[in-house]
Amino acid sequence: MVGEENVSISVADLYTYGFDASIYHRSPEAVVRPRTTEEVSRIVKLARAEGIAIVARGGGTGLCGSAVPLKGGIVMDMTRMDTIKEVRVEDLYCVVEAGVINDKLNERLAPHKFFFPTSPGSGEAATIGGMVATNASGMRAVKYGATRDYVLGLEVVLSDGSIIKTGTRTIKNSSGYQLERLFVGSEGTLGIITEITLRIAPRPKTTAMVMAGFRTLEDAGKCVSKLIATPLLPSATELMDRTCIQAVNKTIDAGLPDCDALCMIEVDGEPELVEKQAEVVLKVVKEIGAISVELTHDPKVMARWTNARKSVMSSLSRFGERLVSVSLADDMAVPISKIPEAVVEFQRIAERNHVIIGTYGHAADGNLHTKMLLDPDSEEAWTNGDKAVSEIFSTVIRLGGTVTGEHGIGISKAPYLKQERPTAIATMLAIKHAMDPDNILNPGKMMEWEGGIIKMLRYPCKDLC
Ligand SMILES: Cc1cc2nc3c(=O)[nH]c(=O)nc-3n(C[C@H](O)[C@H](O)[C@H](O)COP(=O)(O)OP(=O)(O)OC[C@H]3O[C@@H](n4cnc5c(N)ncnc54)[C@H](O)[C@@H]3O)c2cc1C
Repeated sequence: MVGEENVSISVADLYTYGFDASIYHRSPEAVVRPRTTEEVSRIVKLARAEGIAIVARGGGTGLCGSAVPLKGGIVMDMTRMDTIKEVRVEDLYCVVEAGVINDKLNERLAPHKFFFPTSPGSGEAATIGGMVATNASGMRAVKYGATRDYVLGLEVVLSDGSIIKTGTRTIKNSSGYQLERLFVGSEGTLGIITEITLRIAPRPKTTAMVMAGFRTLEDAGKCVSKLIATPLLPSATELMDRTCIQAVNKTIDAGLPDCDALCMIEVDGEPELVEKQAEVVLKVVKEIGAISVELTHDPKVMARWTNARKSVMSSLSRFGERLVSVSLADDMAVPISKIPEAVVEFQRIAERNHVIIGTYGHAADGNLHTKMLLDPDSEEAWTNGDKAVSEIFSTVIRLGGTVTGEHGIGISKAPYLKQERPTAIATMLAIKHAMDPDNILNPGKMMEWEGGIIKMLRYPCKDLC
């Protein structure tokens, strides 16, 4: 169906395609790399007839195990479907195949002075199909929204192999059920997305950034909610705690200030507006008691700061000997005003459970990342981590938040989805059963997951609970 060179059952390929960027692993039985929607459709029809599981895979950058083939079967690598089919700036949309990489799309839009603003930290590898399937977002969500806000239409292969088109190429559309929204965040469980019509936005003319250091993480949290309430809508507000600052300074010699927490606040727009917004930011950070403040308009300095922030995840793994940074309870979001309370509680939970937690995130939209540093060979470390996760998510749900702001449910948040949305699970399952009655599309994930989250690990301690 796809040519022999685009199918693999070699042990090395199967092993490699058993990972995403999460803590989980399971090898598939075959890897298939289609080039067209028709090929996807034919493969799905065969899989349905034979009862074989299919997991769609984009860049494999997911952090919660959503692209790991739990039941084996086929991993369908979508990255050959990488054509940008249309760019229509006059109509504010573009049409792309599912395997187009986020940064490649932005390179293509740049000469038109447009962009696709969701900007995940993984933009150089994440595909638009994967971003739709997880409702990805990133640093600029507070001002520009998440992937969901840009999906105008989709082409999708359903579990019986039929091809449907949903949505439109118009900015407005009230024509019936907004089915394209149903596939946003569906993590490959309802259909395979092959083509996306995406809204695009004009690129802001100017950008400025303020970096402010604080005595406590709580102060940094207060700064974020005060900025928003001012009112001011920054284009990004990145928060980092002492563990993250030290890790980045040690690993890439970033020269970040020595403090307990820092905020990098970005404002964008017309030059005069940027000046005014930057003044407001400076006033607020000083009122909160920032111990170091720096303002820059220099694109090179901004790129250096942004790179420091983007290096947190990889730097944390080099923080201490034998410790790796794992994505467990790594992506919660709370109402913005609850950030100070949340970060203080996370620190207490870490101390109580003897785990190291590095907290950072896109704080202006309430999204926090807490990476745990643990020795992957130690059962005790995983048990402590598991307990800390449960306490963190209970805190998040008590504060009115969600267990995942942008990475999705997959495996690592599956039990907590049930805790967060107890009244919605039955409806989600009914939709899944109606659209995939033979359960071939990414089976066993999200609301179908049973048991604890410390199992099928990629590390020597494979199954703990
Ligand atoms: C260093 C790093 C930084 C990150 N930063 C961010 C961030 O700032 N914001 C953020 O939101 N995420 C971030 N992530 C997580 C990840 O990049 C996103 O979840 C991204 O959307 C995944 O895209 P992908 O193409 O890699 O999808 P994959 O990991 O391959 O797949 C993710 C899910 O989507 C499904 N899927 C993939 N393609 C399709 C398709 N065509 N049709 C149907 N289902 C499909 C898969 O089955 C799976 O369930 C980060 C990850 C890393 C490693």
